[in-house]
Amino acid sequence: MRYKDHSVIVTGAARGIGAAIARSYAAEGARVILADLLVEQGERTADDIRSGGGQARFIACDVSREEQVVALIARTVEHYGAVDILINNAGIADPHQASFYDLTGDQWDRVMNTNAKGCFLTSREAAKIMRLNEQGGAIVHISSTRALMSEPHTEAYAASKGAIASLTHAMAVSLGPDGITVNCIYPGWIETGDYRELREIDHAQHPAGRVGKPEDIARACLYLTDSVNRFITGAGLVVDGGMTVKMIYEP
Ligand code: NAD
Repeated sequence: MRYKDHSVIVTGAARGIGAAIARSYAAEGARVILADLLVEQGERTADDIRSGGGQARFIACDVSREEQVVALIARTVEHYGAVDILINNAGIADPHQASFYDLTGDQWDRVMNTNAKGCFLTSREAAKIMRLNEQGGAIVHISSTRALMSEPHTEAYAASKGAIASLTHAMAVSLGPDGITVNCIYPGWIETGDYRELREIDHAQHPAGRVGKPEDIARACLYLTDSVNRFITGAGLVVDGGMTVKMIYEP
């Protein structure tokens, strides 16, 4: 129960990686706020955590909308009295792999507003509360290995995840004096669908011998926000089974 009585906000927690992160903190005794656009699914995930004995509440929030983010933090403080940890996980990829030549300004804005501006807004509002804590606070942004390398026609997503990586070092420097650590995780392929449907080649191409699971990212979050690891700030942790360091030349 490493996180007993810690108040933790996880954005994009209705499903996928965010739901696994929320479950992991709840299993460690935290009081978790699940924030997401998907109301039914978010309520279901929170219910599920509660029926397993955890403490969790769902709050509907679009992280790209400033007034909704302000309300999210206010309601968290109302429910749990503090904000100790923020995991910025909400993100979209659409239109993934639309031709660069056809990518519209509106599509670009939507991806940037959700992925990058969303991280900024939630962090700014949460940090205003975290800095009042005696023990400070911890923020983790979920970027992507696509901030570091690309497949063709993924410009908006790659740029948004790169922005998150830069936001990490800027915030780490600004918020250090207030006792707030800020780190970033670069996930590789993390399977959120049916893991059993993956092919042998999917696993074998990874130096680690398997495709990632949401719990791999959840464990990295628990590590980066642990109070014994407060010397780690401004860091980026690649969690990708070794794919990013694998050199590939055509035979
Ligand atoms: P997902 O689509 O299953 O989950 C994302 C969640 O974010 C959804 O519940 C969605 O409703 C929510 N969301 C989207 N826009 C939102 C908004 N404006 N406000 C609030 N919530 C919003 O995706 P996932 O695979 O679980 O990915 C989670 C994060 O990890 C994303 O940021 C993604 O870019 C990143 N990531 C995922 C992978 C992967 O392989 N799955 C790899 C690298 C990075």
